[in-house]
This record gives sequence, structure tokens and C-alpha cells, in this order.
Amino acid sequence: METAQPHSISPQKILPSEHRIDESKICDNARQVVNQLLQAGYEAFLVGGCVRDLLLGVTPKDFDVATNAHPEQICELFGNSRLIGRRFQIVHVYFNREYIEVSTFRALVNANTTKSVNGRIVRDNTFGNIEEDAMRRDFTINAMYFDLENATVLDFCNGLQDIKNKCLRIIGQVDTRYREDPVRMLRALRFRAKLNFNIETTTADAITSLGYLLKDVPPARLFDEVIKLFHSGHAVKCFHELNYYHLFEKLFPLTHRTIKEDDVFKQFVYAALENTDSRIKDGKSVNPAFIFAVFLWKPYLRLLDKYTQQGIPFSDAAWEAGRNIVLQQSSITSITKRFSITICEIWKLQNRFLRKQGRRTFQFMQHQRFRAAYDFMCLRVEAGELDESECQWWTTIQTVSANEQRNMINKRNKQQHSGKRNKSK
Ligand code: ATP
Ligand code: MG
Repeated sequence: METAQPHSISPQKILPSEHRIDESKICDNARQVVNQLLQAGYEAFLVGGCVRDLLLGVTPKDFDVATNAHPEQICELFGNSRLIGRRFQIVHVYFNREYIEVSTFRALVNANTTKSVNGRIVRDNTFGNIEEDAMRRDFTINAMYFDLENATVLDFCNGLQDIKNKCLRIIGQVDTRYREDPVRMLRALRFRAKLNFNIETTTADAITSLGYLLKDVPPARLFDEVIKLFHSGHAVKCFHELNYYHLFEKLFPLTHRTIKEDDVFKQFVYAALENTDSRIKDGKSVNPAFIFAVFLWKPYLRLLDKYTQQGIPFSDAAWEAGRNIVLQQSSITSITKRFSITICEIWKLQNRFLRKQGRRTFQFMQHQRFRAAYDFMCLRVEAGELDESECQWWTTIQTVSANEQRNMINKRNKQQHSGKRNKSK
């Protein structure tokens, strides 16, 4: 199969009678942004993933607009807007806390595009027309534009055919396109997992050979992309894909090494990924720190063990091991201070589930991270790392009355006391 080539072509027009887009799935804010741009005399279209999802009958999770208006012209038109990005300038138009991303048609890669030695586009703010913009998008299924006035889809790269064939195909020369932005490899795997599409052979084969390019991607961008992968609702599938294409080891080398040697840890990771998928499906909240705490748990424990064996007191060793492991991971996928504190807290609190807490049990249950730490402990039980009874006690105490809670604590204290006395006899 051929990859789509970047030559300027006139689009295939898919008329309302030929597609089944349900316009009630289009959010009013996106419609308003397009209409306001059109009224000001600019061209404006819905573009990318939202058009793809609408054609698939899925409600898009976000909407992007492409226009020939330049960023500063967009900002002038919308008071509630913010110019973001350095590599590519785009505008976010705000509606309370939601925003619509508006980007100006980009020109083909040219002399004004700054690239790194490996071919990664570092800066590029030259603007072009819609045909050029289509060629700059990543996959054919993401290069379609929806003309709201005429309810017509403009398809420049045969994206509709690829949607029908469930085929993910990169636009242009595969090697160049992955070099320009190695994150496209991660996006390919995410879309495969999310849409259940096949990746066209050339598009797929290059991923294994070019995976090493991920090391050039700024860690903050990789962090965002990792979260998109594992919070997509298809974390298990994404994990399989990343492993199949040898990208997981590039993103999480410590985790990868430990999983290979430790089956219980592997079970734990799977339990966490499955749990994340079902939380997303149920509309529950997910904290990015949690999945990092999971991936780095055993590497952390191993280092902690090493430090305590060197005679470092437990709490110093725990702090130092946590800091060290998070720092190592941050050099690949940056972890902000806020998240690194949460990760280390989840780890440190694990011990408190096992120790006698007495009246401090209530204090512990009020801890800001108690719930995350409890969920983490349940996954350890599920993986066979801890005894089920540990989890059960903490599950029950959260559901009973205050009186019963006091009884449970007293009973546990007595049991632990007599356990100690028996031991010392
Ligand atoms: P989803 O939002 O469902 O995750 P999406 O395709 O909409 O998928 P976004 O990150 O919202 O992904 O990007 C919107 C569109 O911008 C894409 O559909 C694609 O056309 C373009 N795009 C995004 N990232 C890239 C990239 N790295 N290279 C080229 N084009 C991109
Ligand atoms: Mg999108």
C-alpha cells in the first residue's frame, strides 16, 4: 500500500447526502467560532479528529478549527482568547473553562521551517492555504475539513476511504514525517487502540526502526502524550501496542526492565491499567500521578531496599529512593513537582496500611491522598503482592458508622497487641 503523497490536490467533496454526520454532535462553541470567523470574511472549517469522529458516528471529545486568519487576527476577533505555543502558534478561544483550538493554515515545510539535526521541526510559523495545511496533518483520516455552511466534508488525502477500510495511514514520506515529529508514532498507536484500525504497513514498519527518535522530544510533551495514551480509556491496548513496537521501553526503561524480571509487578501494572480503563468508562476522575506511581513502584521498592540495606534509616531511604526514581523518569517524561509529591505520597502511605494506627486511623483516613493510596493498595492485593485481609479491613472501615469504626480499631489494636505479646513470649 502507498502512503499518501504531499502534492497539492483539489479535495474530494463529500456532500450531505453522501455522509451521515449527525450535526447535533457538534458543540455550539465550535460552531460559534466558525461562524464568527466566516462573518469576519475569513475561511473557517472544523478539522482533524472531530471530523474523523463525526464520520465514525462518535461524539468528538474536542473540536479544532482551521482558518486562513492569522493568530493575531483570531485574537482580535475573540476577546476571550489566548495565543499559545512557540513551535506552532495556535489560539485557544475560551468559553468558561472549555476552549476551542483555532489554528491558521500551515504552509508546506520550507526554508523558513527550523529543524533539529534529526529532522524534528523545532519552529515553524509560516502560513499557507487549506491544501498545504491538509498535507501537514499526520494521518489521512485526520486531514478532513467540515464546511459547516454547506455541511460538506473536504477530503484531500483519501481519508474517507481509509476510514471505510479502518486504515491508519501517514501522509507523505513516512521517515520524514516521523522525524519531523516523533510523537506521531505515539499518536498512531493511540489511534489504533482507540479506533481499532489497522496501521498501514509502511506507516507501521517505520515505528520500530525510528522509535529511538523519541529521545529528542521535549520531556514535557512526552508526559502529555503518555497521559493521553493511558487515559484514553484504552490503556491496556495502548500498553500492548507500545510494547509490540518497542516504544514502552523508550518511555519507561525502569518499568520495562523490572516487568521482565518480576511477574507480580507485571500483574500489578495490568491490574492498574484495567482499573484506569474502567474508571474512565464510568466517568470517574483519574490522576496522572497515579499511573506514574504504578509504573515506578517496583523500581522504587528495589532502590529503597538497597538504601535500607546500606543502613540508611527507613524514612530517609524512602524519601531519597522516591526522589531518585522520579528524577530518572523525569528526564524522559517530565514530572512536575506537584505530581512528584503525589507519587511519593502514595508510596509512603502504603506502609501506614500495614502499621497499627490506633486513633491515628481517623487522621490517616482524612489524608488528602488516602483514597489514591487505598486504590493503589487494592491493586497490590489484586496482583497478589499483599494479603487480601489487609485490603478488606480498610474497605470495611470506610463504609461503616463512626461507632463501628471505633470498634474495629479497638479490636484490631487488641489483636495486634496480643500478637506482639505472643511473639515476645
Ligand atoms: P483526539 O482529540 O481524539 O485525541 P485528534 O486527531 O483530534 O485526536 P488532536 O491532538 O486534537 O488529535 O489534534 C487535532 C488535529 O491536529 C489532528 O486530527 C491532526 O489533524 C492535527 N495534528 C495533531 N497533532 C499532530 C501532529 N503531531 N502532526 C501533524 N498533525 C497533527
Ligand atoms: Mg482532537
